Amino acid sequence: MIGETDIVLSSVRVGGTEINYCLICPAKLWLFSHGIEMERTSDKVDLGRLLHEETYRDARHKELMIDNLLCIDFDESGGIIHEVKMSNAFERAHKYQLLYYLYYLKQKGINGLTGVLNYPKSRRIEEVILTPAAEEEIQEILAEVRTIKQSEECPHRDYSAKCKKCSYEDYCWG
Ligand code: SF4
Repeated sequence: MIGETDIVLSSVRVGGTEINYCLICPAKLWLFSHGIEMERTSDKVDLGRLLHEETYRDARHKELMIDNLLCIDFDESGGIIHEVKMSNAFERAHKYQLLYYLYYLKQKGINGLTGVLNYPKSRRIEEVILTPAAEEEIQEILAEVRTIKQSEECPHRDYSAKCKKCSYEDYCWG
């Protein structure tokens, strides 16, 4: 079982974005974790960042950097951590990214938080709870993320509908 020592001190530390990418496309995770980042130059990501800033202008809302690894949006009034997303196209990946934050914080002794996924464009919110079953899933995903990050070769890529929404589309298929 993975505990705080492993999650914080492991030589293969895992960020929330990497959990997200692993569930969307292993190649995306590999590219990102090998320093090939498209996010800073992607219009889609800029729009997401703007939506995030516009969604939270509340003074109770704080952005916390944990272990120089996870940047978490925390609403101190309700013990809620938020994750703002532009569209719900990859909702499962969003959900497990948020579950990972809850899991990580639990390993550090912070229990009882609720996760909320915010989709401001569609005005939808989704509550995310860390159950024992979800913790086991997170541990399995963490193991997969570490295997992919440590691999010397990029996983096989196939062109699919998700590529049209991916910031690496031009890199992979341009
Ligand atoms: S463009 Fe497609 S194959 Fe390439 S990283 Fe994105 S989802 Fe994966």
